Amino acid sequence: MPRDLLSVRDLTTRFFTQEGQVNAVEKVSFDVEEGEVLGIVGESGSGKSVTALSLVDLVEDPGRIVTGEINYRNSELAESASENAPDAVDGDFVDVRKLPERHRRALRGPDFATIFQDPASSLNPSLPVGEQIAEAVEVQRRASANPRSTRSRTQSYGLGKFLLGTALPGQGYLTEESKARAIELLELVGIPDPAERAEALPHEYSGGMLQRAMIAQALAGEPELLIADEPTTALDVTIQAQILDILGDIQEETGMTILLITHNLGVIARMCDRVGVMYAGEIVERGSLEDVFDNPVHPYTQGLLGSIPDLESAGGRLQPIEGNVPSLLDQEMEDRCYFADRCPNAMEECLEKPPEFPGPGSPDHAAKCYLADHPYEPEQALPEDYFDDESSDTTVGRDDGKDDASGEGVSADD
Ligand code: SF4
Repeated sequence: MPRDLLSVRDLTTRFFTQEGQVNAVEKVSFDVEEGEVLGIVGESGSGKSVTALSLVDLVEDPGRIVTGEINYRNSELAESASENAPDAVDGDFVDVRKLPERHRRALRGPDFATIFQDPASSLNPSLPVGEQIAEAVEVQRRASANPRSTRSRTQSYGLGKFLLGTALPGQGYLTEESKARAIELLELVGIPDPAERAEALPHEYSGGMLQRAMIAQALAGEPELLIADEPTTALDVTIQAQILDILGDIQEETGMTILLITHNLGVIARMCDRVGVMYAGEIVERGSLEDVFDNPVHPYTQGLLGSIPDLESAGGRLQPIEGNVPSLLDQEMEDRCYFADRCPNAMEECLEKPPEFPGPGSPDHAAKCYLADHPYEPEQALPEDYFDDESSDTTVGRDDGKDDASGEGVSADD
């Protein structure tokens, strides 16, 4: 029976801007089981990337997590935290939000590693790529060699040695062992001539190679959870497929747990065991891959699937989802189903926020939609022009594979 590695409860992250409060992530709950690939899919602005940033405590000002728990199963961490942060510990789980900041920071790398969509801005442009990967290997090596010391102390020690090595040649932070491991990792992710490439600077790498190097750096810490946020978005289609193959092979070989954030349903279908569909800062439907792809309940999920080209019925028209993603400004959000103004089945009861109902299929299947509880009731339908003042005629459907920053929608491309 697989156990949960991560259990997120009611995670709420907001941005406090001059225009007002932006409710980017609203009471999001999900579990990530050990060894699985959980996908989070949604349009631009659905809150999926902010969810990922919240998990690794990288939400920047003016944003912050306002409530919620991020429970991480790690008996060693639970034991050490029981002394200095007993409120954070519940059995083998530690609510990382309740740890002191320096301890939360120390989880990045050995526990939670992240691959972002823009590798060029994630690597130091002035250091050889191999050296940056070797540094991550060294942090992990020292953490493993000092299981009784706190992780933060281990990493501080690493930084001290790094600075000492800079001042006194011969006292280097990086060992031959960690440099050799960095080369192995570059080879693992398919970099040709890895020993030679380890000496190159990031600008000497192509986009696809940089993304591979980012994966190598993330693997260097032997993380418990790999968070991949749109890992293939900035790449062309053939390189995307290669990167997904690498991630899939590594996951199969090591049984690594992956949280995959994407707007691309093709990537979800190819990689994931379970899926959460995000809309307007909420998970509106969740379940196994089969639940969500074969028995979708929420009209938004159905709309996303309707925007996938069907190769068997070439010539058929795609069904875009009419309307706009709603504003997430607190003063403009009504307390109703946020999808109601785009939903072809909106009913009077949808003007009240739907709770989560169980869906058909696996016990894990659930949707925040009244249609999961009972069939559509035409006599309850809202008039077609009910939301006319707030809607526009923009459509969102299949896009060209661009990332969140592009302002594009959800894609079925792979
Ligand atoms: S709750 Fe109502 S408006 Fe919202 S998705 Fe379901 S049917 Fe549509």
